[in-house]
Amino acid sequence: MRFVTFEYKGEQRIGMLNEDQTRVIDLEKVFNEKGNNVNIPSSLLEAIDQGETFIHEVTVSMDWLEARNIENYSFFLNEPELKLLAPIPRPRKNIFCVGKNYAAHAIEMGSVADIPEHLLMFTKAPTTVIGTEETVLNHAHITSQLDYEGEIAIIIGKKGTAIKEEEAFDYIFGYTLLNDITARDLQKKHKQFFLGKSLDTTCPMGPWITHTSLVKDSVLEIETKVNGELRQKGSIEQMIFSIPTILSVISQGMTLEPGDIIATGTPSGVGSGFKPPKYLKSGDQIEVRVDELGVLKNTIQ
Ligand code: MG
Repeated sequence: MRFVTFEYKGEQRIGMLNEDQTRVIDLEKVFNEKGNNVNIPSSLLEAIDQGETFIHEVTVSMDWLEARNIENYSFFLNEPELKLLAPIPRPRKNIFCVGKNYAAHAIEMGSVADIPEHLLMFTKAPTTVIGTEETVLNHAHITSQLDYEGEIAIIIGKKGTAIKEEEAFDYIFGYTLLNDITARDLQKKHKQFFLGKSLDTTCPMGPWITHTSLVKDSVLEIETKVNGELRQKGSIEQMIFSIPTILSVISQGMTLEPGDIIATGTPSGVGSGFKPPKYLKSGDQIEVRVDELGVLKNTIQ
């Protein structure tokens, strides 16, 4: 199950991709015509809040749809009037971000001494979020060092405090891709990361949320390209703090809630790691890809 938030003729709706990922099924239309046992969610946040009830309803609805003509309940993904939005266009909280979670990236940002001993966390403001194919503002009046960080993001599905590592996957609804665009000069100048990480449009997210059931046993591999040139390549096996460790450490004293988003860190190969640095320029096209999660594409203004 791959869930999307999309706009069709200016109206925002939620949907899911069909098996071959060519069509977006309009979930609201399916739920309405089938007759539904639960409240029809108007956003993926509301759907995630419903948890297993929502997943069950989707499963039953897809069986119902099997006996009907899917064309009446879906749009082509590449239809010009259909626009994918970020799956969660406006998160309720800041986006949680793990910093320096790949040793080679920690070293390229400084030295071996920068490999963290404990989880390093910062956040991005909810106003940073944009979807795939949307433009990242260059903020040229305040930064000349805009950089990319391709990352896998976790979407929390269940409220949890003091989550045990061995139970961590029970709390995950799914995964998406995220580009933790960073103004390196602001990140350094202001010491705390927040300003340099929270400029408007600097959190492209999507293209959809892949339900956890589809990637259960996968070793996700991520790559980032700029103008077609491979810059970053990594695997979740290289993370210093694994996904269960991240959830467990965060939740020891802070409750995680449905819809919370956690970016898990970026592999080496960011622009500032090159000598000379390869910062983003106007017109640059960035692609973050994980085969199981899709491709997140954005252009710099
Ligand atoms: Mg990052």
